[in-house]
Amino acid sequence: MNSYHVTLTRQGRAVTSASDEIVLARLREIVGDEHVLIDPEKVEPYAQDAVKEKFPPEAVVLPRDADEIAAILRLANERRFPVTARGGGVGYTGGAVPVDGGIVIGTDRMNRIKEIHADDLYVITEPGVTTYALQQAVEAHNLFYPPDPSSYKNSFIGGNIAENAGGIRSAKYGVTKHYVLGLEVVTPTGEIARVGGLTSKNVVGFDLTGLICGSEGMLGIITEATLRLLPLPEATATVRATFRTMTEACACVPRFNRARVTPVAIEVLDRNAIRAVESEFAFGFGEDAGALLLVAVDGHADEVERASRVVEEVVKDGGGFDVLRSGNREEEEKLWDVRRALSPAIKKFGTMKFNEDVVVPRSRVPELIEQVVEIGKRHETFVVNFGHAGDGNIHVNFMCDRDDPDAMRRARAAVRDTFAVSVNLGGTISGEHGIGYVKAPYLDMALGASTIDMMRRIKQALDPNGILNPGKMFV
Ligand SMILES: Cc1cc2nc3c(=O)[nH]c(=O)nc-3n(C[C@H](O)[C@H](O)[C@H](O)COP(=O)(O)OP(=O)(O)OC[C@H]3O[C@@H](n4cnc5c(N)ncnc54)[C@H](O)[C@@H]3O)c2cc1C
Repeated sequence: MNSYHVTLTRQGRAVTSASDEIVLARLREIVGDEHVLIDPEKVEPYAQDAVKEKFPPEAVVLPRDADEIAAILRLANERRFPVTARGGGVGYTGGAVPVDGGIVIGTDRMNRIKEIHADDLYVITEPGVTTYALQQAVEAHNLFYPPDPSSYKNSFIGGNIAENAGGIRSAKYGVTKHYVLGLEVVTPTGEIARVGGLTSKNVVGFDLTGLICGSEGMLGIITEATLRLLPLPEATATVRATFRTMTEACACVPRFNRARVTPVAIEVLDRNAIRAVESEFAFGFGEDAGALLLVAVDGHADEVERASRVVEEVVKDGGGFDVLRSGNREEEEKLWDVRRALSPAIKKFGTMKFNEDVVVPRSRVPELIEQVVEIGKRHETFVVNFGHAGDGNIHVNFMCDRDDPDAMRRARAAVRDTFAVSVNLGGTISGEHGIGYVKAPYLDMALGASTIDMMRRIKQALDPNGILNPGKMFV
């Protein structure tokens, strides 16, 4: 037995080292010696997510199936140590990190796509498949899985479901929960349950599939997912336009629908975002570019041609200038370069990025941006805004220096003010990144006491010993 000393803790209470040895021995029995990691360098990659704050797990366990996960959770309830599930580890709210100690269950080995049913339009997959791998696999059958978080090359399907991930295609296709037909879930107390099924119509019992979607690994560990598919659209095209103001750019959004076009994506960049990419990559945007829209359409080739021309007319009528419309896939890719350039471009504005993902009714986006720019000025913090104008979900990025405590304090104050503004405008504090531990202190800005109480009671009923992912959502 490895003599490395670990202390499996539960909310600050240490389990005796004799128990540790017993726990480790039992974990090794369940998953095999080589799938229990305790060496610091092997555990290290599981210590953080995209928030980049480190909480090293006391052990990482890499099970192969639902039976092994159920056995681990039963052991955790018997010995009372915390368990945190992890997908690709690219969450933005610390959901996958063990803030309260204990073990991390990595789903890396559960990476098989089990069945693709073209006629019935569904795929059955394990949770450790990346979003990208799933998309590629179904596209080979001319099928389409629309949810597309920008982290798609690294995020896992299990993490997408647990966070109810969105993406740029949400404007037309919605978010992950709209594609989850059924799940196999291991409950926090170690039972294996099946919720939902294979069909898109299914109203038998409570909607437990809906409950698990977005539950951030706190109500069960997803071990299999049945996901709804669509026929793969034949073609796509994109129109890019700059505007003098955000108000002008955002006013186009409802006009696309009035012209009977539903764009697959409507992305917007504000003035600071344009300046950032311009200074780093010299796209050629002038000083008069105060906002930028990227609008994509998809469907049958003839329809895409028609719809992209309608989009072009709408943006021109709406005050858009330097309007470009893609004629083929290569040109389309080039138009999206500006969006891809954003993340690297804004790095120079600070070592710390408070990347918030607030959401408001889409007609209120210009007001949101206006007020966020004021908040940035008030707290002397540089802010870059961009995101999904089609569904009102805006990425507000307050930039500062991680080693400057005063700048960090000002940025945090700016974040709180931004949440207040979003709620006041009829929106909420997160459109896609979730709560985790990072946004837990702000939950009561978005939800009333009785709603939070209902959530606590569901958690308590399913996880009476508080084993699964403690320290998240509720403070
Ligand atoms: C560059 C970048 C771009 C991003 N873009 C987007 C975007 O466009 N849209 C968007 O929505 N998000 C985006 N995100 C956030 C993030 O990628 C998503 O939240 C994603 O769904 C996380 O998946 P993951 O596999 O990395 O989950 P992890 O970070 O590993 O885990 C996230 C949560 O899911 C739980 N979990 C993981 N697997 C399971 C399981 N099998 N069963 C139960 N619970 C589980 C964890 O406990 C944790 O609470 C982005 C992140 C980055 C870094």
